[in-house]
Formats: sequence, structure tokens, C-alpha cells
Amino acid sequence: MNNKPLKILAIDDMPANLALLGLALQDDYAIQIATSGAKGLELAHDDPPALILLDIMMPEMDGYETCRRLKADPLLQDIPIIFVTALTETDAEAKGFTLGAADYLTKPINIEIARLRIRNLLERERMRQELQQKEAAQRLAASVFAHTHDGIVITDAENRIIDVNASFSRISGYNREEVLGKNPRLLKSGRQSADFYKTMWRSLLKYDHWNGEIWNRNKSGEIYAALTSISVVRDEQRNIHHFIGLFADITPLKNHEYDLERIAHFDPLTGIPNRVLLADRMTQAIAHTRRSRNHMAVCYLDLDGFKPVNDLFGHEVGDLLLIEISQRIKDCLRAGDTVARIGGDEFVLLLLDLDGSQEYESVLDRMLRKVAETAEIAGHRVAVSASLGFTLFPNDAVDADTLLRHADQAMYAAKQGGKNRYHLFDHNMDRIALARGETLARVEIALRNQEFVLFFQPKINMRSGHILGAEALVRWCHPERGILLPAEFLPVIEGTDLAVALGDWVLVTALKHQRAWLEQGLQIAISINIAPHHLLRPGFAETLTRHLDCYPMPRPADVELEIFETAALQDISRVSAVMNECKALGVAFALDDFGTGYSSLAYLKTLPAETLKIDHSFVRNMLEDSGDRAIVEGIISLASTFHRQVIAEGVETVDHGSLLLKMGCEKAQGYGIAMPMPAEDLPDWVRNWRPNPAWLER
Ligand code: C2E
Ligand code: MG
Ligand code: MG
Repeated sequence: MNNKPLKILAIDDMPANLALLGLALQDDYAIQIATSGAKGLELAHDDPPALILLDIMMPEMDGYETCRRLKADPLLQDIPIIFVTALTETDAEAKGFTLGAADYLTKPINIEIARLRIRNLLERERMRQELQQKEAAQRLAASVFAHTHDGIVITDAENRIIDVNASFSRISGYNREEVLGKNPRLLKSGRQSADFYKTMWRSLLKYDHWNGEIWNRNKSGEIYAALTSISVVRDEQRNIHHFIGLFADITPLKNHEYDLERIAHFDPLTGIPNRVLLADRMTQAIAHTRRSRNHMAVCYLDLDGFKPVNDLFGHEVGDLLLIEISQRIKDCLRAGDTVARIGGDEFVLLLLDLDGSQEYESVLDRMLRKVAETAEIAGHRVAVSASLGFTLFPNDAVDADTLLRHADQAMYAAKQGGKNRYHLFDHNMDRIALARGETLARVEIALRNQEFVLFFQPKINMRSGHILGAEALVRWCHPERGILLPAEFLPVIEGTDLAVALGDWVLVTALKHQRAWLEQGLQIAISINIAPHHLLRPGFAETLTRHLDCYPMPRPADVELEIFETAALQDISRVSAVMNECKALGVAFALDDFGTGYSSLAYLKTLPAETLKIDHSFVRNMLEDSGDRAIVEGIISLASTFHRQVIAEGVETVDHGSLLLKMGCEKAQGYGIAMPMPAEDLPDWVRNWRPNPAWLER
């Protein structure tokens, strides 16, 4: 509120006339005196007063003239004027009113009456102004309501429409009379769920406001997008009075969005889904197939002989052919199935809700026949066929990417099988081929990125409780998949140069660890696994020599190489030659996984290996399986016959150890003693190791 007192301007050539009045009013108002009409106009102009007291009889410019001029000035014309007249001037009153005076006072002035009249006048003026402002605001609101581009709906507390504007009618197609008294739900398109509206109402009633996009239907049935804002108008008691809904038709915008969406998700040539949409569809299809407990075929289709068509007849014919082919494929599909184009002449198909193999076979047969039909394109007769590979989910229970890769693999098999045919992905055959191609490169990167580490698993003598050493076991710290066991990557690189590179890394790294432990006061023998193909590489012994020069072993035989017996060891004389070279360096040998390979006695007799390692598969099962127990017993007696040491892998429990001891095998390795552990954990393990009393000599 403005606390400044209202200003009253008194214009009189003889201010003494007003002196008393001024004195009486000065507590309530700011009184300003002008001694001539001209001066009064000037002061009024500088700072318009709330009221003017105007004397009539003045020299030069009399009160009437002054009044006329005041009324002619737009800035001042609304200021109420009170004429101050002498009693004798009888017609002055009437003349004053015609000039626009608001009231008059007669001299001599009755102070109390003057005070009341002034107050009333000012109050009346205040109310007039307020009304005027309100009217202006209403006029503005009405004009906004009428002319705004947005549709406006006003409803009562029961949500019955009480008013709409012209834009509402333009957008919705309903005129005002048609909708009055109706519920705005008559605009619903049915595109949005009951849940959508429920959520909208909940938010509206909670926050008195809601914003969002609603799909509405106009009177002629067309659907339009309305960017909508709804407000709740409440009275002082917080009861709902009105709802005001404002909406803009954003259909053109939405259409543009839809175009963009199409470009992003559909192949522009054929109009069928592209790779992006396919990924979406696959996720949905997998979920759907799981729910329905049915089968889905993921098919990879590649055209045979498409390139020659392009080369011979040009790209335009090629493009038209692709359109024709995608239409033919679509014709073979059922609702819910998907065909996507993911490359030049490559398509992916998702066939859903299959019950059995006959069903997809007949679909695929029909499709291949359709694709192979000769087409008439731009006056040319052209023919292609399709090679199709597929895999079935959930039999092939892998993720979307892998399903696609499997289907792709199978497609290659279809091509290799002679084209114009389909081929079902075969887990065993294809996986190996696939894994090779995939992981070999990845293993190479891993080696470069130092993603490999060595774990160590202790070996002990159960009877004496002594720690004999530890076997180095390679692990891959895969950035995405975590720690991977050798079975995950060694078969992939088996026989390659990469296997040799990794083997070399293992060799050096194991020696480094042994050196580091020695520096910490722990002297321990290590066993290192060497792939046969690595051992037979020319120069193996020389490389080993160089490594041992850098990291000499603490004692002779503190480095043992484990070699598994395989067909690769056929060339026994060469193998034993290399082994002898290494033995000359003080290195010991063990025949790993003994019993699983060719186990020929010739090996045992010829190869200079001190130790046989009984494969853990026999040891693990020997408590239940008498056959395995017999093998273990056989290996132990074989070792004793040929004067070799023997050690058992896979000692998982105390019972395993006790039985081995009874059979004459004292050395052991296994989860029952220690799990393979990171190199840095080994010193602590050694310190804390307590022999198992059940195994110790009594
Ligand atoms: P392996 O040389 O026979 O190594 C023993 C395997 O048996 C290890 O598997 C070890 O973790 C596992 N094992 C140890 N105790 C038990 C037990 O009580 N029960 C059972 N069920 N298994 C036990 P890992 O580490 O997965 O290695 C598998 C194979 O991979 C090794 O068999 C070895 O042939 C090869 N390998 C491991 N590291 C290397 C390496 O650095 N170079 C080469 N060339 N091959 C390696
Ligand atoms: Mg081994
Ligand atoms: Mg082994």
C-alpha cells in the first residue's frame, strides 16, 4: 500500500480564502496551493493531484477556463474538481457541473461539510478507478479467451463444460452449444489407457495442476495431439470451483516427430524396420516368447546372386528388386513376425509363436520358393535366391546379439551347403568356429593390455605336512566378464602363435613371482603348465635359458614344467630331446592330466619326467566310482614301477586324501587343501598353513 497522503491542489487567487480549510485538511491530505489558473495547470501537470479545489473568480484565467483546460488534458481529465463558489453566484453551480465539475462548495466554507464531501468524492473516485481496472482486466481476459490460438475449456466442479472459446471449436470441431454441460471426456481418442487418465487426475487433484500431451479425437473422428495444461480453481474454503483446460494442437509437430522416428527406425528403401528397430523388436520378442512358452526362430537371410543383378542391370534395378523381395518375405510372415533389413541384401526375420519344427520348416520352404521366383523389373527378368540361417529360442538360450550371430553363422553354413536353402544353427559345430574368430583377436588385445594374471595353487605332502610348491594357473581378468578360467580362452588359441606368446608371458611372470617371494623370504618351487605345441617350438630351451638367466631359480628343480600328454607328443624323440635340454638347466618335469590322454607306456619309459600328475577327474570321483579308483590305483603302481613320483590333483575332501594315502600317494593338490589364489596371497597362506591331522604320520 502507498502510505503517501493523497494530494489536494487548491487553486485560488486569494489563498487566504482557503487557509482555514487547508489547515483543517492538512492532517489527512497533502495540500498544494496555486494562486492562478495557469500556475494550477502547471502544478497539476507536474504531479497530478487526487482532487482539485477550484475558485471561480480569478483574474486572467477564471475557474471555468481552468476547468475546461484540465478536462481537455487526457492526463488530468479524470481528476475530480470541486468548484468553490460564493453564495451569490447562483448559476455558477450548474455551469460548473456542465463543465465536468464533480461537486461544489460555497463560501464561506463549512469545514466539516467540506471535509465529508472531499472524502466521499475521493472514495468514489477510488472505487471508479478500481472498477475501471477490473473491467480492463476482464476485457483483457475475455479477449485472450476469444482470440487465443489455444483451445480453452472451462468446466464446473462436476467437470461439466460451462464455456469454451473459438479455438476450442476450431480444434475439436464442436461448437459451443454442442459441448455445454458435457464432460470433456467426449474428446477422448481411446489412444490412452485408463491408467493414463487416472494418473492425470491424481496429479491434478494433488497439485491443482497438470501438464502433458493427450491424444484427442475431433468431431469428424480424426485424432490430434493436444499439448494440454489443466488448472484447478478453488474458492477460499479450498472447494473446487472450476477446472480450466488449455490445449494447443501440436499434431503437425507430432507428425514431424513421427517422420523423424520413421527415418530412425525404418529402412528408407524398403520401408521395413532397420537394425535399430530390430533390436527393439528382438527384446520384445524374447520377452513374449518366454511368457508364452513358445518358440521363436531368429533367421538371417542373405540373397544369393544379388551382386550380379546390381552389376548387370544397375543399382536402380537392384533397389527395385530389394523392394520386391522384402514384400515377398513380408507376404510369408504372420502378424507379430518381423522382417528387418540390416544391410545391402541382408535381412533378419523373427518368426514368433512356433509350436514345432514342421511349422517353421514349411514357412521357410515357402519363403525360399517365393524369393527364388523370377521377377520382372524395369523390363528385365531377374532371379535371385536366399541362403537362410536360423536358430531357435529358447533352445538356444542366449541374448539377442548372440542369437543374431548364431543365425549368421548358420547362414554361412547354408551358403556353404550350396545356397538357396536354410540351415539350423548347430551348437557344437558352430560354436567352436565362432569362438575362434571372435576371441582370438580379443585374447591378443588382452595380452597387450595385461589383462592376464597368474593364480597359484599349493601342492603339499599330506603325510609330512610339507609344502612342496605351487602351480601357476593363468586367469583372464576380463573387463566385462570378470575373472575367466583357462577353459574359456585356452581352447580358442590352442595351437596358435598367440598360445606361444601367452605361454611365454606365463613363464616369465611365474619366475618373477618366485623371485619376489624369495625377496620376501619365501623359497618355494613353482610348476608351470606348458602347451605341447609351445614346448616343440624351435628355440624353446634357448628362451627358457634366457628367462632363467634373468630370474635364476632358488634351487635346482625349483621350477617344474607340466606337460599334458596328448597326440601332439607323438614325436617322442623330439619331445624328450627338448626335455633333456631343459633338464640340463635344472628344470624338472611332470606329466600332467595323466590317464586322460594316450597313456602309452612308451611315454613313460622314454620321457624324462620325474612326476606323474593324476588327473583330477579320476581323483574326484574315486570315492564313488570304482572304475576311477582302479585308474588311480593303476597310475600309482605304474609310477612306482617306473620309479616316478606321483601327485594327485582334485583332492577336494579329507576322505580323498586319506584314500590316496592308503593307496600310496602322498602328494596332493586340490580345493580340499587350497583354492588357486592370487600370487600376493600365497605368502600369507604358507605362513598360516596347518597340516591336516587326519593325514599326518602317526
Ligand atoms: P591343470 O594343469 O590340470 O590344472 C589343474 C586344474 O584343476 C586347475 O584348473 C585347478 O583350478 C583345478 N583344480 C585344482 N584343484 C581342484 C579340485 O580339488 N577339484 C577340481 N574339480 N578342480 C581342481 P584351471 O585353473 O581351470 O586350469 C585348467 C587347465 O588349464 C589346467 O589344468 C591346465 O591344463 C591349463 N592351464 C592353466 N594355466 C595354464 C597356463 O598358464 N598355461 C597352459 N599352457 N595351460 C594352463
Ligand atoms: Mg597343470
Ligand atoms: Mg592337471
